[in-house]
Amino acid sequence: MNGSVPTSDISVVIPVFNERANLRPLAERLAATLDGTGLAFEAIFVDDGSQDESLAELRAICGQEPRFRALSLSRNFGKEVAIAAGLDDARGRAVVIMDADLQHPPEVIPLFVEKWREGFKNVYGQRTGRETDPKMRTFFTELFYRLLERFGDVTLPPGAGDFRLLDRQAVDALLSIRERARFNKGLYAWIGFKSTGVPFDVESRASGRSSFNFARLVRFALDGLMSFSSIPLKVWTYVGLTISFFALAMAGYYWVRTMLFGVDTPGFPTLVVSIAFFSGVQLISLGVLGEYIARIFNEVKGRPLYLVAERIEGDAPADVSGAGVARSSRS
Ligand code: UDP
Ligand code: MG
Repeated sequence: MNGSVPTSDISVVIPVFNERANLRPLAERLAATLDGTGLAFEAIFVDDGSQDESLAELRAICGQEPRFRALSLSRNFGKEVAIAAGLDDARGRAVVIMDADLQHPPEVIPLFVEKWREGFKNVYGQRTGRETDPKMRTFFTELFYRLLERFGDVTLPPGAGDFRLLDRQAVDALLSIRERARFNKGLYAWIGFKSTGVPFDVESRASGRSSFNFARLVRFALDGLMSFSSIPLKVWTYVGLTISFFALAMAGYYWVRTMLFGVDTPGFPTLVVSIAFFSGVQLISLGVLGEYIARIFNEVKGRPLYLVAERIEGDAPADVSGAGVARSSRS
């Protein structure tokens, strides 16, 4: 990792999942913008098991533009892992990470580069609003960030996401983290380094729809909270202590009452309610333990983070033997 020799100034890493119609306009805007900076660049598209024609489109694009290449993962591994695969492959002295759906305007990259030249190693795009997101999503997103802020080990700058530039040093730091439950937003903050934000207007998704539905976002939020906080594990000690205290107080109360007034009608509803309530509490705490144990299990298995099915390199003309790798999957 540290031994890799940077061959470009800037690598651009782009996770791609069912983005066929967005790839061509993105490639054009990206090339035009980066050409304007006069820097040597490469772009790495990571096809994350797309089910549409994204891969064929990437083949066409990379065939025409030698500075573009693509990795095709063997299946859908999720955006976080796709980004890790791209970072592994990037050779630039700095790496820009951006979405493929044109929500992250390539024209902002020169502003990132400017900050990078000023010495910042972790330059993040800060979206100026969430107007393009549904209201419900915005509400839960804010709730999640507030929870993470309160209970997590990291503080995330508001509005910052994956759209950012990382210096080689920061990239190598990220690559040294081989966690499987990757929550990149937390990791970017965790590695530290001199950081700054660059505001940008988030655009609407150019074509297609977001692959993050509510269930997937909940999963993602749980990954985030559990990777960066152990409060959910520890909170049960306090819940348990509080409940035991009240149970003891109640026992004392009933003992005194029985002594003074004797036994009255047996409290059936109280019994049912308290059994149901405490069973619920126990199941929740077991569930939380399970979540962490499942994560430990995942990490311990030590499977590779991702598998690459195919590399698509732009520099060899499509009709010579160098492209054999690219053709093999179709034959
Ligand atoms: N993406 C991916 N793998 C996935 C889901 C999404 O690589 O399993 C990519 C997607 O192609 C896009 C980026 O991650 O480039 C952001 O995805 P999306 O636009 O669906 O998310 P949103 O912008 O709604 O957060
Ligand atoms: Mg998007």
